[in-house]
Amino acid sequence: MLEKAQLLSGKIKITAGPGKPEGFSQRHVGFYMNYSSFVFRTLRRPSFQRFLQWMLRRERIEAQMVGAVDVKVFPFRRKNGKGLAGNCDTARGKIRIYPKTMKFCREFTQKFGKSTLLVYAGSRARAALIHELLHLKYATDENRVRELAKEYFFAFTRIKPSKASEHFSIYTMVFKTKTDEPLQVFQKGINVQDSKFISI
Ligand SMILES: [Zn+2]
Repeated sequence: MLEKAQLLSGKIKITAGPGKPEGFSQRHVGFYMNYSSFVFRTLRRPSFQRFLQWMLRRERIEAQMVGAVDVKVFPFRRKNGKGLAGNCDTARGKIRIYPKTMKFCREFTQKFGKSTLLVYAGSRARAALIHELLHLKYATDENRVRELAKEYFFAFTRIKPSKASEHFSIYTMVFKTKTDEPLQVFQKGINVQDSKFISI
């Protein structure tokens, strides 16, 4: 079991290619390098690796199905302008995890502070990896993947000793950012559903 856990963590690496996006300054590059190394450390943390190991076993997803987990340095922009947290090439078992933009992070930090940004960025990356690992089994069944990813993410955050309200707001933000104003969702998330959180 331990061996398999180490296997998965050994497949995580930071990848920058295919070249830095146009118009990015050295400052951008430095920011995204720091972001990716933070995500890399977060995903490889033993507590999270043990959790993933448990999830893979429970879902009967073989560790060999995971080809590689690439923590991408630069954000992915879809044609509709929306960002992407991750994607998965199920045939090759290749998972990619993408960062939020520097612009988003700057605005977020101004509103909520650096430590909350780190909690959010770490949670977003963990949720993305859980989601993409589930795609290895459920392929194109997006609804099933989303539903299970929420359950697993919640199961992981629950076991961490921290404030329930913070958990719930981060959880809300990671999963309910379909709206144009994720920062407002985050603000609303605080205190709104504490009782619900506790009773689940
Ligand atoms: Zn998906």
